[in-house]
Amino acid sequence: MYPADNTSKENLIQNWQQVKQDIEALLIQSQRPQDATRLIAVSKTKPAEMVICLAEQGQQDFGENYLQEALTKITDIRQSHPELSICWHYIGHIQRNKTRDIAENFAWVHTLERDIIAKRLNDQRPENLPPLNVLIQVNIDEEQSKSGCQPDEVEALVQQVQQYPRLVLRGLMIIPAKLTEQNDEAFARTQALFAKIARDYPQLEQWDTLSMGMSADMATAIQHGSTMVRVGTAIFGSR
Ligand SMILES: *Cc1c(COP(=O)(O)O)cnc(C)c1O
Repeated sequence: MYPADNTSKENLIQNWQQVKQDIEALLIQSQRPQDATRLIAVSKTKPAEMVICLAEQGQQDFGENYLQEALTKITDIRQSHPELSICWHYIGHIQRNKTRDIAENFAWVHTLERDIIAKRLNDQRPENLPPLNVLIQVNIDEEQSKSGCQPDEVEALVQQVQQYPRLVLRGLMIIPAKLTEQNDEAFARTQALFAKIARDYPQLEQWDTLSMGMSADMATAIQHGSTMVRVGTAIFGSR
């Protein structure tokens, strides 16, 4: 049953369509191709029924932060709606003893920050699944409290991760400090770092993903070359 105490089904679909239209308009404004930015619907804290509703409308990518909650949702949906082919993105903090569940259940990980985690994900990725797509999370504003590796540690991590056959290194992810006028700049710096690694490591054949932009800063992110926006509130309502 669709939950009565959440954003109604009609509103959910409307919100989703609006976000897709906004992305399209921003891509036109930025003179980027129509399919340049993929929408990841962030369904953390929201029930499986809302995910199913959007997946039935054609939304393919969903992002989750809390592993236990995500595993329950993923298992339920696989059982109740085996016809839906959902691409699951893990966007939360990775605890070292939880890597196996991530390696077994997700197609993408956006929050890689240490080699030890990369190694475990590589070793634990099941043989019957394609390699796991990974993004390095960068603490671009060098905030004390934030996850992610420091900008000057990114290259070392790139070198380590590219040796793992069961991982495909796709790019970078950031969660910038609250959007202000200057932190436009955080997006620009990330875009520059992304381009520099592409130049310096031409062997990274699938280096094509810049995961940045959430409900509040999606526009700025798309103007700065984001190829994946992770949007929760603007689609599902407040948490
Ligand atoms: C919650 C979350 C989002 C979505 O944020 P909204 O502001 O609700 O759009 C995106 N990325 C990460 C890493 C998150 O934790």
